[in-house]
Amino acid sequence: MDDNETATVTGHDVTTITCVCGNTVSQAGLIQANSDGVPVYAGGNTPVPDTMAKWPPDEDLYTLCPSCGRVYRDATIEETGTAPVAFRVDVTAAPIAEAIRDHWNLST
Ligand SMILES: [Zn+2]
Repeated sequence: MDDNETATVTGHDVTTITCVCGNTVSQAGLIQANSDGVPVYAGGNTPVPDTMAKWPPDEDLYTLCPSCGRVYRDATIEETGTAPVAFRVDVTAAPIAEAIRDHWNLST
């Protein structure tokens, strides 16, 4: 893959990412993830599902594109206003695929 891939982002705001693959929040959505690219469970009163990650104590959050598996680091976007691809995960296989499924189940 191209190590220099960068998503489009507006105003240092991670919710405005247009992924390299073309996905946005209003299309397939973007998911908050940890530094391994595993979707984090953001709250509620129920326990964290086995498939998902706990909210990172250091608040070092990443944004996962569930369409292509590219992951962006929120802190980089907020500091620099650019969104280089931090790393990439396989969204079609466990454990990421299962965590994404549970993320959508819990958020709808
Ligand atoms: Zn993408």
